[in-house]
Amino acid sequence: MNQDLLRKIPKIDVLLARPALENLKESVSRNLIKKTAQEYLQKLRGEILAETITEIPAIEEIEQAVLNKLLNTEPYHLKRVVNATGVVLHTNLGRAPLGGEVAERLAEIAQGYCNLEYDIEAGKRGSRYSHVEDLICKLTGAEAAMVVNNNAGAVFLMLNTLAKGKKVAISRGELVEIGGSFRVPEIMEQSGAELVEVGTTNKTHPEDYSRAVTEKNATVLLKVHTSNFAVVGFTESVSVSQMADIAKENDALVLYDVGSGFLFPSEWIGLHDGENVSKALQDGADVVCFSGDKLMGSAQGGILAGKKELIDRIRKNHLTRMLRIDKLSLAALEVALRHCLDPQEACEKIPTLHMLSMSRETCREKASLLRNKLSQAAPSFCMEVIETEDEAGGGSLPGVVLNSCAVAVSSARMSARSIENYMRSYRTAIITRVWKERVIISPRTLCQGDEQELIQAFTELENLVNEERTEK
Ligand SMILES: *Cc1c(COP(=O)(O)O)cnc(C)c1O
Repeated sequence: MNQDLLRKIPKIDVLLARPALENLKESVSRNLIKKTAQEYLQKLRGEILAETITEIPAIEEIEQAVLNKLLNTEPYHLKRVVNATGVVLHTNLGRAPLGGEVAERLAEIAQGYCNLEYDIEAGKRGSRYSHVEDLICKLTGAEAAMVVNNNAGAVFLMLNTLAKGKKVAISRGELVEIGGSFRVPEIMEQSGAELVEVGTTNKTHPEDYSRAVTEKNATVLLKVHTSNFAVVGFTESVSVSQMADIAKENDALVLYDVGSGFLFPSEWIGLHDGENVSKALQDGADVVCFSGDKLMGSAQGGILAGKKELIDRIRKNHLTRMLRIDKLSLAALEVALRHCLDPQEACEKIPTLHMLSMSRETCREKASLLRNKLSQAAPSFCMEVIETEDEAGGGSLPGVVLNSCAVAVSSARMSARSIENYMRSYRTAIITRVWKERVIISPRTLCQGDEQELIQAFTELENLVNEERTEK
C-alpha cells in the first residue's frame, strides 16, 4: 500500500517541467527551484511512510505548493487556530487571547512611534516602566511596580537583586518545575541565591521557617505558588502572613512568586481558588511577581510589585535591560489593567476572565446553539450536548474544575481520531480533543469568528464524506 503510493510520487524532472515552475526560471535560480521541489517531495514521502496521508495530491496541487513556497505566498507559519479544547490558558496555543480593545490599541501603537521611553512633558528621555506603574499600584496596593518580559524573568530578577549571596528559605513542597524548563531550585542557583530547604513535600510549619532564620541565617523567605499541581491529603503550608510575621521579627524579606494571580478576589468571577495579588501584599509580602498572560489575561509579561525601595533596586539591576518588556506587550497590558479597575468590566472585556467565569448553564446554552448549527452543516454526524469539565490550564488553578458543557461529535463512517485529524488539518486548524470515541468541542474557549470556522469545516467534511459514499 505504501509502496504503491511511493511509486505514484511524481518524478522531480516531471515536476520541474511544469509550466509554473518552468516560467519561474527567469526570476528564481534553478538550484533553489530544484531544492524546494525536492524538499516538497521528501516531505510527501515522509507523510506516506508515517501514514498521515493516504493519497498523493494532484500534480497541479504539488506544482502550486512548490510555487507558493518559492514566492513566499504560503500561509504564515505562526497562525491563528481555533481552541475548542476548553483549556482556557492553553500553553501550547498562546495562553491568553486578547480582547478587541487591545487589538485596536496594538494597531495604533504598532503603526507609528510612541512615547515608550520619552517623557513628553519634559521633552526628554523617560522610562518604559512608567506607563503602567500607577495602574498596578492602584490595583494591588503596592508602593511601586514594574513589568519585564515574562514572569520567569521577573522571578530571576527579584532573586538576583534581593537574594544574591543570601540564604533563602523555601518550602520543599514549593521546589517545583513549571512548564518543563522553569525549575525553582535551578533559577535560585542561577540567580546567586543560596537555597535553604525547609519542611517536607507535603507539610511545612511556621517553626520550619523560624529555624531556617535563627539557625541557618536565612534572610529571605521565598514562597512559590505551586501552579501546576495540587498536593492533596495531609498537607500544610505556611501562609504569607505567617511568613511575614517571622520575617519581621528577624529583619528578613518575604518574596512571593504568585505565578498566576488575580487582581481581585477570584470569588468575583465565581471561582473559589486563585491567588489574589493584593492580598499577598497586604499580608506582608515585600515583593510579589506574576505573569501578565495567565489569569491577568493580557500579553506576555512579568509583573513585579511591592516596596518602593526594593522595586527601585530591581529596576537598577543591569540584568533588567536583558529582560525588558516590548512596547506591544506593554500597550496590551495597559488596556487590561484599565479594564481591571472595574472587575465587572474586566470579566466582560478580558477574554480569559470571561471564559473562566462562564457557568455550566451558559456553556450548555452555547453548546446547544452550536450543536444545532453544526448538525445543520453536517447532518450525517451524530452530535450531542454533554456535560464536561474544562480547565483553566497554563499552570494556573490546579485542582479547579470548570463545570461545563460541550458538543460531542461522532460518526458511523469516520472514527473520532479521523475527525480530530481532519479538524486539525483544516485551513484554520481546529484543535479538539477525543474522549470516549467522540470528538469534544467546548464552546468555552471559542473566540470571535471561531464558530464560523467550525461550521465551514463541518460543511466541507460532510461534502467529503458524501462524495466518498457516492464514489463507492
Ligand atoms: C507560570 C509561572 C512562572 C513562569 O511565568 P512565565 O510568565 O511563563 O515566564 C513562574 N512561576 C510560577 C509560579 C508560575 O506559575
